[in-house]
Amino acid sequence: MKKDTAQLVDKLLASPQKIVIVGHKNPDGDAVGSCLGLSFFLKSLGHSATVIMPNDFPDFLKWLPGCEEIVIYEKDVQKTNDICKAANLIFTLDFNSLDRVGGELQAVLENASAKFVMIDHHQQPADYAVATYSDVKMSSTSEMVYHFMDALGKAENLSDNIAINLYTGIMTDTGSFRFSSTSPTTHRVAAKLIEAGAESAIINQNVYDTNSPERMKLLGVALNNLVILPELHTAYITLTQKDLDDHHFKKGDTEGFVNYALSVKGINFAVIFIENKQESIVKISFRSKGKFSVNDFARNHYSGGGHINAAGGKSSQDLNKTINEFISILPRYKNELTDAS
Ligand code: 5GP
Ligand code: MN
Repeated sequence: MKKDTAQLVDKLLASPQKIVIVGHKNPDGDAVGSCLGLSFFLKSLGHSATVIMPNDFPDFLKWLPGCEEIVIYEKDVQKTNDICKAANLIFTLDFNSLDRVGGELQAVLENASAKFVMIDHHQQPADYAVATYSDVKMSSTSEMVYHFMDALGKAENLSDNIAINLYTGIMTDTGSFRFSSTSPTTHRVAAKLIEAGAESAIINQNVYDTNSPERMKLLGVALNNLVILPELHTAYITLTQKDLDDHHFKKGDTEGFVNYALSVKGINFAVIFIENKQESIVKISFRSKGKFSVNDFARNHYSGGGHINAAGGKSSQDLNKTINEFISILPRYKNELTDAS
């Protein structure tokens, strides 16, 4: 973290503040872990801090210390409005642009009089914060929260509650320390978090070994629906609304499915298309290996974005049209897809 950014935030935190911490829509392990970790840290400095999420987060995160106090905008609009109005500081974590919180909450944030601080590792950060700590090379926003504490000279405030949350965020966003964004520093930070009370085996069990039978069956459907396009080094999965309904889909159930498509030998680009009839969209997750930028692909074709090797987007056409269009776009990228690694 740059010294002048840290000094600026230090000044903003010189007296007790009313702080709101916001994560992105459809919060994942990094969004929830980084926000909760930061909230415990800010409370340890004497501030009041409330975590707000635009919508609910997956059950596999519902054991994280402090998660019961998260305010979910969709469930508690009035409370969220009041808290945002009263805040003097709003930290936005794990997203790069205010539209990532979804339409109505975006308006609430834009109308708030608080100053903004951004901590994020996505590409192309928007310019709305008085202090922006953005680093696209970082494994996760949770790792950045640790560096943020360190830059403020407060790494000794690391409690077990902070450590467990940040470890969970790093672990989930790096695919258990697998993805190329995992640096030696990521491992050093993880070691400090373990020393401070993050028990890796227990966190792994809580996150990965709590599958419902329905989720496992839905994974079976997803794998059955896997299509491989060997010439284009691409594999994709589709799930219809009926597939989801038949398996009593709950938020987070499809997390990680796309990685199975990427795990096929010779595949550099993997995609999952998930029909969402309620929002009249197809939600899309993109993953890649090597140089093929799914951030660019998602931005150029699917109003989305993310990182070079992991991004998301959406289509407002129906599932069939979405797939046909995708298949028609792909050949343009044949060379990039072939030489990715
Ligand atoms: P996932 O596919 O797991 O939902 O998301 C992969 C990455 O892309 C995450 O870092 C996520 O924040 C980002 N992402 C997912 N969906 C969108 C989207 O619709 N727009 C943008 N800008 N980023 C997204
Ligand atoms: Mn993240």
